Amino acid sequence: MDHHNYLCDQCEEKAFTCSTGTCEKCGTSTTSSYYQLCLTCAEELGICQACQRPKAKMLKRLTQLALESAPKANRAVEIAKRIRRKN
Ligand SMILES: [Zn+2]
Ligand SMILES: [Zn+2]
Repeated sequence: MDHHNYLCDQCEEKAFTCSTGTCEKCGTSTTSSYYQLCLTCAEELGICQACQRPKAKMLKRLTQLALESAPKANRAVEIAKRIRRKN
């Protein structure tokens, strides 16, 4: 599999077209029109280039943030745990 991209597990399984797109953040051309972010920006933000959902390694930080902004965060922590278990 081509690893010159930064995608979540779900998007990695999908087939993307070869047409190019534009990064929403810096305007650099992306390797697929499905990508809303270039590789650099996606890695910097820790989110998927295509769907902009946080990658697994960001879950720890998200959980931490959620804990800091309790009590509404309980639900977010539960979701984060569930996603981590999948990975
Ligand atoms: Zn960019
Ligand atoms: Zn994705």
